[in-house]
Amino acid sequence: MPRHIVCLTFDFDTQSGFIARGMTTPTPLSRGEFGAIAALRILDFLKTRGIKATWFIPGFTIESWPRECGAVVAGGHEVAHHSWAHVPPASQTREEEEADLVRANEAIARLTGRKARGYRSPSWDLSDHTIELLLAHGFQYDSSLMGADYLPYRARRGDVAKLGEPFRFGEQTRLIEMPISWSLDDYPHFEFVRTPATILASMQPARAVMQSWRDEFHYMKRTVDWGVLTYTMHPYVIGRGYRMLALEDMVDKLVEDGAVFMTMEDAAREAEQRLGRA
Ligand SMILES: [Zn+2]
Repeated sequence: MPRHIVCLTFDFDTQSGFIARGMTTPTPLSRGEFGAIAALRILDFLKTRGIKATWFIPGFTIESWPRECGAVVAGGHEVAHHSWAHVPPASQTREEEEADLVRANEAIARLTGRKARGYRSPSWDLSDHTIELLLAHGFQYDSSLMGADYLPYRARRGDVAKLGEPFRFGEQTRLIEMPISWSLDDYPHFEFVRTPATILASMQPARAVMQSWRDEFHYMKRTVDWGVLTYTMHPYVIGRGYRMLALEDMVDKLVEDGAVFMTMEDAAREAEQRLGRA
């Protein structure tokens, strides 16, 4: 019996990403602040459709926006780990990374009563230590790598990539990788960012992006009997009115197309059963 899973995931960054990039003047901060209004809007929508989603919430957001984070928990959604301060692990020492990991997990435990099962790195850039740290801290899955599209796989540690040498594959671990893609992330499609170093001026039509996202589901259905498709969204990005309308229509069409919606934790458990014990 074919089974095609969709995970709606929301990275509830609020102001954390702007602060991590040093953008602490009032307007960029307010841009992140809008995520709090948008999150409640998204929660209302998910409730009307009876869909449970996964919310990757930095410790910063848990401690700055307790009412909104409480609403995520009250809605029955999964709360997963997204660092405390939204600093990419690749730019931290091992000690800094572990301290941030522990601090954020404590915030999640206070919010939900249990530590996170899943992790997604800020800005999708793992360090050489991340997989090992996630295993040491009892995580079940990661969702920061791009090595597949529809089929979760086991994350490796100790890969060696050197210029002029063949790639050396590291050891496969028990950590389940739930793959992601920038193409299935709302941020690069929609956001406008201007810093001295870069200009990102996307502003794509929402319905065109959602049509591409839906096509990705159709291709999964055509090519695999069982698979997981993960969409990554940020409340302050997807929560604008015209994007919400496009998202709502896409979700309704995916339901008609037979998508099975579930949290990433549940999808990772199903993936683990299929992959067998490590
Ligand atoms: Zn983020």
